[in-house]
Amino acid sequence: MSEKKFKYVNPKPVRFGQATDRISEHSVPLYRCGPHVWNVGGQDDVAVYLLDTGEGLILIDTGYTESVFLVVHNIWKLGFNPENIKKILLTHYHGDHVNGVASLVHISHAEVWLSKEDERMHQLYCRADRHGIHTAPYQVTNFYDDNTLIVLGRFTIETKLTPGHAPGCTSFFFEDTDEETGKTYRCAVHGGLGIAYLKPDMLANQDQTEEAAHRFVKDCLELAERPVDINMPSHLNQADIDNNLPEDLNDYTWFVADYSWHDMLVNRAEAVKRFWPDRYPEYQKN
Ligand SMILES: [Zn+2]
Repeated sequence: MSEKKFKYVNPKPVRFGQATDRISEHSVPLYRCGPHVWNVGGQDDVAVYLLDTGEGLILIDTGYTESVFLVVHNIWKLGFNPENIKKILLTHYHGDHVNGVASLVHISHAEVWLSKEDERMHQLYCRADRHGIHTAPYQVTNFYDDNTLIVLGRFTIETKLTPGHAPGCTSFFFEDTDEETGKTYRCAVHGGLGIAYLKPDMLANQDQTEEAAHRFVKDCLELAERPVDINMPSHLNQADIDNNLPEDLNDYTWFVADYSWHDMLVNRAEAVKRFWPDRYPEYQKN
């Protein structure tokens, strides 16, 4: 069997979030990762997925204040108008994913979606320096309801509350069809896989209890069994995208890898189990 190209790797020692004044050292080109999906984020840290619904644009996350100009630039480069962003779907409330919201809403008047759980956290902490990153103010207009699909144009998006990294992390599942080949791909974006906050001494940082760690493990292992053709990680390191970009940045089929989503989630579940050896005896040190 050939080696799997997409695998979970630890974040770079210095990535854009730790050097937001040095974009030239941390830039990542615009690339297509689905028939109608691109990462327009422009930096090596947080992904910003643009979905062309045919009836307006959807963004999943916005990245940093300091990189939002690249998001706008990349949307124009694709031939779209940033004024045409209709919905901004946020994975969670942390600044590295949401700090571009204010600028993008100023341009587009888009709806801003977040979970109720994370809006509570946003209100509690938006003025404080959490997650090492200041959270810029933004106005949430819509809350996710996992029983209600988000529909716009060719996309129907299913949401799922997947707490752990933050109490309201939300994951997204949708299909995307290539009209030229007739092929349909199952796509997924997980809401948050940074696990430092699930260590026993770090739970309080996100206002969580031990149950958050066990729920995260359970959710990861359950969701890992869900068939996903294209894994769209919220941070590029989660599938080592930065080191694995295709030569042809328009060739989304490069990202079709049915193991990537599964392996990423199992890796994260196992890492959290190691924090809790009493609960997961297979990880007890001899
Ligand atoms: Zn986060």
